[in-house]
This record gives sequence, structure tokens and C-alpha cells, in this order.
Amino acid sequence: TQEIQLVSRPHGTPTPENFGTVTTELPDPGPGQVLVRNTVLSVDPYMRGRMNDTKSYVPPFPLGETLDGGAIGVVEASGADSVPVGATVQHMAGWREAALLPADQVRVVDTSRVPDSAYLGVLGMPGLTAYVGLTRIAQLAEGETVFVSGAAGAVGSAAGQMAHLLGAGKVVGSAGSADKVSWLVDDLGFDAALNYRDGSVRKQLEPHAPVDVYFDNVGGEHLEAALFHMADFGRIAACGAISDYNATQAPAGPRFLTNVVTRRLTLRGFIVSEHGDLAGEFYRQAGAWVAEGKLQARETVVEGLDHMVEAFLSLFEGANTGKMLVRP
Ligand code: NDP
Repeated sequence: TQEIQLVSRPHGTPTPENFGTVTTELPDPGPGQVLVRNTVLSVDPYMRGRMNDTKSYVPPFPLGETLDGGAIGVVEASGADSVPVGATVQHMAGWREAALLPADQVRVVDTSRVPDSAYLGVLGMPGLTAYVGLTRIAQLAEGETVFVSGAAGAVGSAAGQMAHLLGAGKVVGSAGSADKVSWLVDDLGFDAALNYRDGSVRKQLEPHAPVDVYFDNVGGEHLEAALFHMADFGRIAACGAISDYNATQAPAGPRFLTNVVTRRLTLRGFIVSEHGDLAGEFYRQAGAWVAEGKLQARETVVEGLDHMVEAFLSLFEGANTGKMLVRP
């Protein structure tokens, strides 16, 4: 089966040459092991950070080894009673067609009511990220105004809809195309949305200010615009800064940091994996919202493992609406 490896570390924007494909033979599962044929693979912006050889909250991807990441697959052969053949499982051995795994490293998921891919998106890590950011980190309260950047992506589209479901008064999104902006307002119920490619985010956000909660997926100019328009005692959930991930030099900004003092703001970063204690509550709540049609999820699906690198690289160009996935 085919697997994708990191062969060299990107400097700035990664290129296809940083990746390579290898073919491996997988043996039959031994006791306590399962052989999983992957059906859906996740590409995520955080993977860019792991391609650098720097100390962070997760170790760097080693060179010359198969990459990992979120994946869903079907058990093809099993040496473990707890995970039968035919079960759909979620695990972290992505970037490959199939994987031999210890049974305790896979989680059986229920696909009777939602498609398998939901566990990589709205009912998975991105959905939980949106929930944790709004509730625990930003402490969203009834009636507040929420601004979400990267709003048409996996985390952002969930965050904007959940903000309403959690009682926000007004939800404003930012995304990089007219189609995405229409989707946010017409289909997802955002009260307003702006296209950051149309001009200054600060100017476009002006009519919607002041902002009580800013859910930051982008950093850079978006963070600066939010700092400018925050209400007194506003909270910023610092989730990501995709506009900086391929930068080769530290950005100069953001300006308006003094507003943190004068408006008594809270800016708090978080890593979703450290908030697993909210997963049960999230899953019950979001599962119900999805079942009731109150929480919508869109996917951009790329076919073929040989297009997985392209799918990953295109996250940084906004090729996806909703969650970016690969079907190997
Ligand atoms: P998305 O589905 O949002 O995909 C990335 C999107 O980012 C693209 O579609 C693109 O949309 C936008 N984008 C890319 N480059 C830029 C840029 N220079 N300026 C503005 N927007 C840009 O990915 P996810 O939902 O998976 O992740 C969203 C953010 O959340 C990322 O920053 C990620 O690192 C972070 N994250 C953080 C977690 C945590 O634990 N803290 C967990 C999971 C994700 P557009 O067309 O609008 O430009």
C-alpha cells in the first residue's frame, strides 16, 4: 500500500518536492492488532507547523517517515475482539492507504446517522475546537457579538453556527471569496460576512463593531482589525494564525495591542487536545445539533492519495469550503 512521507523540511510555503510516496507491504494483524483500510484522510493547517524542526506543543514530523494525521477507515482484518472486521474506526495513521495498528489506537465510530467523514470535521477535532474556543476560552455570553475569521473553513464554519446556537446576538464572519461569503450568510445563518480580499478588514468590520468575542483562525491583519474593534472586556480565543504559517520572518504586527489594557481584553490561546474533558459534552450537544439540522457541515473532497499533497498545500490558498478531506 502507498504512504506519503516528508522528505525535506519546507522553507516558507511547502512544495510537492518536500514530499515523497513509498510502497509498503502490511502483514496480517497479530494478537491485539487491526488492519485498517482508510476511507477518508484529513489534511489540517496545524500539520504545517509539524513540518518545521522547532519545539512546539507536538513534536516535528520526522524526515523519511510516513506522516500522520486524522483518518477514518474500515477494519479489514482483526486480532482484537473489541474491534471486529467491518467496523468503521477513527485513528491517527493518516497519509496512507492502509495501516496496521494496535486496537487501542483506534476508536470505533457510529456511522448509522452521520457519514464517516463527520468524525474528521463537525463531530471531530475541528468541531471540538470551535466548541472549546467559544465556551471555555472565550466564555461566550447571551446576546454578544462574535467575529470569526477563516469562517468558511472547518473550524470557522462550525464556530459561527455554534455561536448562534450558544446564544450569540450577532455573528460576523470573514472569508476569502464572494462564494464563501454568500454561503456564510445565505446557508449558515451568519448575520454578516466580509471578503478580506476586497480591502481592509478593519474598515469592513467597522459597521459590525464593537466585537465581544473574536474567534481567531487567521492572525495578522485579522487579529489587528479585531483588536481595533473589540468591546470593553472582550475576549479573543486565539485558535490559529494561518496567515503566518508559511512566513519566513516574524510578522511586524499586530498593532493596537494597547487596547488589551485600555479595554481590559482577554486574549487566550488554546490547543484542543488539552481540552478532551469537554469532548463528551461537545459530542452530545453537536450530535444533536447535526441531527436536528441546526449545525451544517460542508466538505471539499479530493480523490486519490496521489492528490493528497496538493490538497494539503491548497489549504493555504483557500481551495476548501468547509472541511478539506482526501479519499485515498
Ligand atoms: P480551514 O478549513 O479553515 O482551512 C484553512 C482556510 O484558511 C482556507 O480555506 C483559507 O480560507 C484560509 N486561509 C488560508 N490562508 C489564509 C490567509 N493568508 N489569510 C486568511 N485566511 C487564510 O482549516 P481548519 O478549520 O482546520 O483550521 C482553521 C484554523 O484553526 C487554523 O489556523 C488552524 O491552525 C486552527 N486550529 C487550531 C486548533 C487548536 O487546537 N488551537 C485545532 C484545529 C485548528 P479563505 O478562502 O477564507 O482564505
